[in-house]
Amino acid sequence: MIKKIAVIGSGTMGNGIAHVFAQFGYQVSLIDVNAQALEKAITTITKNIDRQVAKGTLTDADKTAALANIKIFTKLEDGVKQIDLVIEAATENIQIKLEIFKQLDAVCDANTILASNTSSISITKIASVTKRADKVIGMHFMNPVPVMKLVEVIRGYSTSDEVTALVMQMSKNLGKAPVEVNDYPGFVANRILMPMINEAIYSLYENVAGVTEIDTVMKLGMAHPMGPLQLADFIGLDVCLNILNVLHDGFGNPKYAPCPLLVNMVTAGSLGAKSGKGFYEYTAGSKDLVVADRFKKKELADISL
Ligand code: NAD
Repeated sequence: MIKKIAVIGSGTMGNGIAHVFAQFGYQVSLIDVNAQALEKAITTITKNIDRQVAKGTLTDADKTAALANIKIFTKLEDGVKQIDLVIEAATENIQIKLEIFKQLDAVCDANTILASNTSSISITKIASVTKRADKVIGMHFMNPVPVMKLVEVIRGYSTSDEVTALVMQMSKNLGKAPVEVNDYPGFVANRILMPMINEAIYSLYENVAGVTEIDTVMKLGMAHPMGPLQLADFIGLDVCLNILNVLHDGFGNPKYAPCPLLVNMVTAGSLGAKSGKGFYEYTAGSKDLVVADRFKKKELADISL
Protein backbone atom coordinates (compact mmCIF):
# COMPACT_ATOMS: atom_id res chain seq x y z
CA MET A 1 0.00 0.00 0.00
CA ILE A 2 1.49 3.32 -1.03
CA LYS A 3 0.96 6.19 1.42
CA LYS A 4 4.16 8.19 1.50
CA ILE A 5 5.90 9.40 -1.61
CA ALA A 6 8.90 11.55 -2.46
CA VAL A 7 9.24 13.69 -5.57
CA ILE A 8 12.75 14.63 -6.66
CA GLY A 9 12.97 17.88 -8.62
CA SER A 10 10.42 20.63 -8.00
CA GLY A 11 10.35 22.24 -11.45
CA THR A 12 7.50 22.25 -13.97
CA MET A 13 6.72 18.54 -13.58
CA GLY A 14 7.78 17.95 -9.97
CA ASN A 15 5.48 20.60 -8.56
CA GLY A 16 2.55 19.24 -10.57
CA ILE A 17 3.20 15.65 -9.43
CA ALA A 18 3.51 16.77 -5.78
CA HIS A 19 0.27 18.75 -6.15
CA VAL A 20 -1.75 15.79 -7.44
CA PHE A 21 -0.51 13.30 -4.82
CA ALA A 22 -1.03 15.82 -1.98
CA GLN A 23 -4.55 16.55 -3.25
CA PHE A 24 -5.33 12.83 -3.08
CA GLY A 25 -4.15 12.53 0.54
CA TYR A 26 -0.63 11.15 0.12
CA GLN A 27 2.22 12.44 2.34
CA VAL A 28 4.67 14.07 -0.07
CA SER A 29 8.36 14.93 0.40
CA LEU A 30 9.30 17.42 -2.30
CA ILE A 31 13.07 17.46 -2.81
CA ASP A 32 15.22 19.82 -4.88
CA VAL A 33 18.89 20.80 -4.72
CA ASN A 34 17.77 24.38 -5.34
CA ALA A 35 15.96 25.97 -2.36
CA GLN A 36 14.55 28.73 -4.57
CA ALA A 37 13.00 26.15 -6.89
CA LEU A 38 11.25 24.64 -3.85
CA GLU A 39 9.86 28.02 -2.77
CA LYS A 40 8.67 28.69 -6.30
CA ALA A 41 7.06 25.24 -6.43
CA ILE A 42 5.02 25.88 -3.27
CA THR A 43 3.88 29.24 -4.69
CA THR A 44 2.87 27.57 -7.97
CA ILE A 45 1.04 24.71 -6.23
CA THR A 46 -0.84 27.20 -4.00
CA LYS A 47 -1.84 29.27 -7.06
CA ASN A 48 -3.00 26.19 -8.96
CA ILE A 49 -5.01 24.88 -5.99
CA ASP A 50 -6.56 28.37 -5.58
CA ARG A 51 -7.74 28.04 -9.19
CA GLN A 52 -9.38 24.68 -8.36
CA VAL A 53 -11.07 26.27 -5.32
CA ALA A 54 -12.33 29.18 -7.46
CA LYS A 55 -13.78 26.63 -9.93
CA GLY A 56 -15.48 24.76 -7.09
CA THR A 57 -13.63 21.47 -7.67
CA LEU A 58 -11.84 21.79 -4.26
CA THR A 59 -12.88 23.44 -0.98
CA ASP A 60 -10.79 25.69 1.28
CA ALA A 61 -10.47 22.73 3.67
CA ASP A 62 -9.15 20.56 0.79
CA LYS A 63 -6.60 23.28 0.03
CA THR A 64 -5.37 23.40 3.64
CA ALA A 65 -5.15 19.59 3.79
CA ALA A 66 -3.30 19.31 0.46
CA LEU A 67 -0.72 21.95 1.35
CA ALA A 68 -0.19 20.38 4.80
CA ASN A 69 0.64 17.07 3.05
CA ILE A 70 3.75 18.56 1.38
CA LYS A 71 7.11 18.87 3.15
CA ILE A 72 10.14 20.31 1.39
CA PHE A 73 13.78 19.16 1.55
CA THR A 74 17.05 20.19 -0.09
CA LYS A 75 18.90 16.98 0.89
CA LEU A 76 17.74 13.78 -0.80
CA GLU A 77 18.58 11.53 2.18
CA ASP A 78 16.40 13.66 4.52
CA GLY A 79 13.33 13.40 2.29
CA VAL A 80 13.27 9.68 1.41
CA LYS A 81 13.08 8.08 4.86
CA GLN A 82 10.30 5.45 5.11
CA ILE A 83 8.97 6.35 1.69
CA ASP A 84 6.93 3.82 -0.34
CA LEU A 85 7.47 5.36 -3.77
CA VAL A 86 9.97 7.89 -5.14
CA ILE A 87 9.19 9.74 -8.38
CA GLU A 88 12.24 11.38 -9.87
CA ALA A 89 11.42 14.49 -11.93
CA ALA A 90 14.84 16.15 -12.04
CA THR A 91 16.45 17.73 -15.09
CA GLU A 92 16.43 15.51 -18.23
CA ASN A 93 20.13 14.66 -18.11
CA ILE A 94 21.25 11.06 -17.97
CA GLN A 95 24.24 11.68 -15.66
CA ILE A 96 22.06 13.54 -13.15
CA LYS A 97 19.46 10.77 -13.19
CA LEU A 98 21.99 7.92 -12.83
CA GLU A 99 23.57 9.70 -9.83
CA ILE A 100 20.16 10.20 -8.21
CA PHE A 101 19.15 6.54 -8.68
CA LYS A 102 22.49 5.28 -7.32
CA GLN A 103 21.97 7.42 -4.24
CA LEU A 104 18.31 6.40 -3.90
CA ASP A 105 19.21 2.73 -4.09
CA ALA A 106 21.74 3.23 -1.28
CA VAL A 107 19.50 5.22 1.11
CA CYS A 108 15.91 4.02 0.49
CA ASP A 109 14.27 1.02 2.20
CA ALA A 110 14.67 -2.23 0.25
CA ASN A 111 10.97 -2.22 -0.69
CA THR A 112 10.76 1.36 -1.95
CA ILE A 113 9.67 1.59 -5.59
CA LEU A 114 11.78 3.97 -7.67
CA ALA A 115 10.03 5.69 -10.59
CA SER A 116 11.28 8.21 -13.14
CA ASN A 117 9.22 10.82 -14.98
CA THR A 118 11.81 10.91 -17.78
CA SER A 119 10.47 11.80 -21.23
CA SER A 120 12.93 9.63 -23.09
CA ILE A 121 15.81 8.15 -21.09
CA SER A 122 15.86 4.34 -20.91
CA ILE A 123 14.26 2.97 -17.72
CA THR A 124 16.38 -0.17 -18.16
CA LYS A 125 19.53 1.97 -18.17
CA ILE A 126 18.38 3.86 -15.05
CA ALA A 127 17.53 0.56 -13.33
CA SER A 128 20.99 -0.84 -14.16
CA VAL A 129 22.68 1.44 -11.60
CA THR A 130 20.47 0.03 -8.80
CA LYS A 131 20.27 -3.38 -7.12
CA ARG A 132 16.47 -3.40 -7.44
CA ALA A 133 15.80 -3.34 -11.20
CA ASP A 134 12.49 -5.16 -10.57
CA LYS A 135 11.29 -2.12 -8.59
CA VAL A 136 12.33 0.57 -11.09
CA ILE A 137 9.63 1.87 -13.44
CA GLY A 138 8.73 4.88 -15.62
CA MET A 139 5.82 7.12 -14.65
CA HIS A 140 5.62 9.64 -17.47
CA PHE A 141 3.13 12.32 -16.43
CA MET A 142 2.04 14.95 -18.95
CA ASN A 143 2.28 18.72 -18.54
CA PRO A 144 0.32 20.31 -16.82
CA VAL A 145 0.11 17.36 -14.44
CA PRO A 146 -3.03 18.39 -12.49
CA VAL A 147 -4.95 18.72 -15.79
CA MET A 148 -3.65 15.98 -18.09
CA LYS A 149 -5.16 12.50 -17.65
CA LEU A 150 -2.47 10.32 -19.18
CA VAL A 151 0.31 8.56 -17.30
CA GLU A 152 2.55 6.52 -19.60
CA VAL A 153 3.72 3.67 -17.35
CA ILE A 154 6.99 2.28 -18.71
CA ARG A 155 8.15 -1.22 -17.86
CA GLY A 156 11.92 -1.54 -17.89
CA TYR A 157 13.39 -4.85 -19.03
CA SER A 158 13.30 -6.22 -15.46
CA THR A 159 10.33 -4.34 -13.92
CA SER A 160 8.15 -6.88 -12.08
CA ASP A 161 4.47 -7.57 -12.79
CA GLU A 162 3.63 -6.68 -9.16
CA VAL A 163 5.28 -3.25 -9.32
CA THR A 164 3.67 -2.52 -12.70
CA ALA A 165 0.21 -3.51 -11.41
CA LEU A 166 0.63 -1.43 -8.27
CA VAL A 167 1.70 1.69 -10.18
CA MET A 168 -1.13 1.24 -12.72
CA GLN A 169 -3.70 0.97 -9.92
CA MET A 170 -2.27 3.91 -7.96
CA SER A 171 -2.38 6.09 -11.10
CA LYS A 172 -6.08 5.23 -11.47
CA ASN A 173 -6.63 6.16 -7.81
CA LEU A 174 -5.24 9.63 -8.68
CA GLY A 175 -7.95 10.03 -11.31
CA LYS A 176 -5.45 9.41 -14.11
CA ALA A 177 -5.62 7.08 -17.11
CA PRO A 178 -2.44 4.95 -17.06
CA VAL A 179 -1.23 3.17 -20.19
CA GLU A 180 1.39 0.42 -19.96
CA VAL A 181 4.20 0.48 -22.53
CA ASN A 182 7.59 -1.17 -22.97
CA ASP A 183 10.95 0.52 -22.66
CA TYR A 184 12.16 1.55 -26.12
CA PRO A 185 13.45 5.01 -27.17
CA GLY A 186 10.78 7.71 -26.75
CA PHE A 187 8.35 5.08 -25.36
CA VAL A 188 5.06 5.71 -27.24
CA ALA A 189 4.18 9.35 -26.52
CA ASN A 190 7.38 10.93 -27.77
CA ARG A 191 8.10 8.34 -30.45
CA ILE A 192 4.95 9.55 -32.20
CA LEU A 193 4.82 13.19 -31.06
CA MET A 194 8.43 14.23 -31.76
CA PRO A 195 8.60 13.07 -35.41
CA MET A 196 5.36 15.03 -35.96
CA ILE A 197 6.87 18.16 -34.41
CA ASN A 198 10.11 17.62 -36.37
CA GLU A 199 8.12 17.28 -39.61
CA ALA A 200 6.25 20.51 -38.84
CA ILE A 201 9.62 22.26 -38.38
CA TYR A 202 10.86 20.73 -41.66
CA SER A 203 7.72 22.05 -43.40
CA LEU A 204 8.61 25.55 -42.18
CA TYR A 205 12.33 25.12 -43.01
CA GLU A 206 11.51 23.98 -46.55
CA ASN A 207 9.09 26.88 -46.95
CA VAL A 208 6.05 24.68 -47.52
CA ALA A 209 4.05 27.10 -45.34
CA GLY A 210 4.38 29.65 -42.53
CA VAL A 211 4.07 29.12 -38.77
CA THR A 212 0.40 30.11 -38.56
CA GLU A 213 -0.52 28.04 -41.61
CA ILE A 214 1.19 24.86 -40.35
CA ASP A 215 -0.38 25.16 -36.91
CA THR A 216 -3.80 25.98 -38.37
CA VAL A 217 -3.75 22.89 -40.63
CA MET A 218 -3.11 20.64 -37.64
CA LYS A 219 -5.53 22.43 -35.30
CA LEU A 220 -8.49 22.69 -37.63
CA GLY A 221 -7.72 19.73 -39.88
CA MET A 222 -6.78 17.16 -37.23
CA ALA A 223 -8.66 18.63 -34.26
CA HIS A 224 -5.43 19.09 -32.26
CA PRO A 225 -5.96 21.60 -29.44
CA MET A 226 -2.64 23.26 -30.27
CA GLY A 227 -0.55 23.27 -33.47
CA PRO A 228 2.78 21.33 -33.41
CA LEU A 229 4.95 24.48 -33.53
CA GLN A 230 3.12 26.08 -30.61
CA LEU A 231 3.32 22.78 -28.75
CA ALA A 232 7.08 22.60 -29.42
CA ASP A 233 7.46 26.11 -27.94
CA PHE A 234 5.43 25.03 -24.92
CA ILE A 235 7.48 21.85 -24.34
CA GLY A 236 10.79 23.70 -24.90
CA LEU A 237 12.77 23.43 -28.13
CA ASP A 238 15.84 22.16 -26.24
CA VAL A 239 13.71 19.36 -24.77
CA CYS A 240 12.38 18.48 -28.25
CA LEU A 241 15.93 18.39 -29.63
CA ASN A 242 17.14 16.16 -26.78
CA ILE A 243 14.32 13.69 -27.34
CA LEU A 244 14.89 13.59 -31.10
CA ASN A 245 18.57 12.86 -30.43
CA VAL A 246 17.57 9.98 -28.11
CA LEU A 247 15.33 8.56 -30.88
CA HIS A 248 18.03 9.07 -33.52
CA ASP A 249 20.78 7.47 -31.40
CA GLY A 250 18.53 4.71 -30.04
CA PHE A 251 17.17 3.48 -33.38
CA GLY A 252 20.04 4.58 -35.65
CA ASN A 253 17.41 5.57 -38.19
CA PRO A 254 17.88 8.86 -40.14
CA LYS A 255 14.12 9.49 -40.10
CA TYR A 256 14.56 10.81 -36.54
CA ALA A 257 17.36 13.28 -37.40
CA PRO A 258 16.45 16.68 -35.94
CA CYS A 259 15.69 19.42 -38.47
CA PRO A 260 18.69 21.79 -38.86
CA LEU A 261 16.38 24.73 -38.12
CA LEU A 262 15.55 23.24 -34.69
CA VAL A 263 19.27 22.73 -34.03
CA ASN A 264 20.00 26.37 -34.98
CA MET A 265 17.20 27.72 -32.82
CA VAL A 266 18.40 25.81 -29.74
CA THR A 267 22.02 26.82 -30.38
CA ALA A 268 20.90 30.46 -30.61
CA GLY A 269 19.01 30.21 -27.31
CA SER A 270 15.58 30.47 -28.91
CA LEU A 271 13.98 27.78 -26.72
CA GLY A 272 10.26 28.57 -26.97
CA ALA A 273 7.95 30.00 -24.30
CA LYS A 274 10.47 29.69 -21.45
CA SER A 275 13.04 31.88 -23.23
CA GLY A 276 10.40 34.35 -24.50
CA LYS A 277 10.95 33.35 -28.13
CA GLY A 278 10.60 30.30 -30.36
CA PHE A 279 8.26 30.00 -33.33
CA TYR A 280 6.14 32.57 -31.48
CA GLU A 281 7.05 35.48 -29.20
CA TYR A 282 5.94 35.51 -25.58
CA THR A 283 5.38 38.64 -23.53
CA ALA A 284 4.54 38.29 -19.83
CA GLY A 285 0.83 38.79 -19.22
CA SER A 286 -0.15 38.58 -22.90
CA LYS A 287 -2.22 35.69 -24.21
CA ASP A 288 -1.92 36.75 -27.88
CA LEU A 289 -0.16 34.32 -30.17
CA VAL A 290 2.39 36.42 -32.07
CA VAL A 291 4.61 34.78 -34.71
CA ALA A 292 8.30 35.50 -34.01
CA ASP A 293 9.78 38.22 -36.25
CA ARG A 294 12.15 35.67 -37.80
CA PHE A 295 9.19 33.72 -39.16
CA LYS A 296 6.93 36.53 -40.32
CA LYS A 297 5.73 35.62 -43.82
CA LYS A 298 7.86 38.14 -45.69
CA GLU A 299 11.00 36.45 -44.39
CA LEU A 300 9.98 32.89 -45.17
CA ALA A 301 12.38 32.58 -48.10
CA ASP A 302 15.36 33.33 -45.80
CA ILE A 303 14.52 30.89 -43.03
CA SER A 304 16.63 28.00 -44.20
CA LEU A 305 19.69 30.14 -44.93
P1 NAD B 1 12.64 21.61 -14.78
O1 NAD B 1 13.92 22.12 -15.34
O2 NAD B 1 11.45 22.51 -14.74
O3 NAD B 1 12.89 21.11 -13.26
C1 NAD B 1 13.93 20.26 -12.92
C2 NAD B 1 14.25 20.47 -11.45
O4 NAD B 1 15.16 19.45 -11.04
C3 NAD B 1 14.93 21.81 -11.14
O5 NAD B 1 14.20 22.51 -10.15
C4 NAD B 1 16.33 21.40 -10.63
O6 NAD B 1 16.82 22.26 -9.60
C5 NAD B 1 16.05 20.01 -10.11
N1 NAD B 1 17.25 19.17 -9.99
C6 NAD B 1 18.29 19.04 -10.84
N2 NAD B 1 19.17 18.14 -10.36
C7 NAD B 1 18.68 17.68 -9.19
C8 NAD B 1 19.12 16.73 -8.22
N3 NAD B 1 20.28 16.09 -8.38
N4 NAD B 1 18.35 16.52 -7.14
C9 NAD B 1 17.18 17.18 -6.96
N5 NAD B 1 16.71 18.08 -7.85
C10 NAD B 1 17.44 18.33 -8.94
O7 NAD B 1 12.33 20.27 -15.57
P2 NAD B 1 10.89 19.61 -15.89
O8 NAD B 1 10.36 20.19 -17.16
O9 NAD B 1 10.07 19.62 -14.66
O10 NAD B 1 11.34 18.12 -16.24
C11 NAD B 1 11.60 17.17 -15.23
C12 NAD B 1 11.53 15.78 -15.82
O11 NAD B 1 10.22 15.57 -16.33
C13 NAD B 1 12.49 15.52 -16.98
O12 NAD B 1 12.95 14.20 -16.93
C14 NAD B 1 11.60 15.75 -18.22
O13 NAD B 1 12.05 15.05 -19.34
C15 NAD B 1 10.29 15.18 -17.71
N6 NAD B 1 9.07 15.68 -18.40
C16 NAD B 1 8.93 17.00 -18.73
C17 NAD B 1 7.76 17.43 -19.34
C18 NAD B 1 7.55 18.90 -19.68
O14 NAD B 1 6.63 19.22 -20.45
N7 NAD B 1 8.33 19.81 -19.13
C19 NAD B 1 6.74 16.52 -19.65
C20 NAD B 1 6.89 15.18 -19.28
C21 NAD B 1 8.07 14.76 -18.65
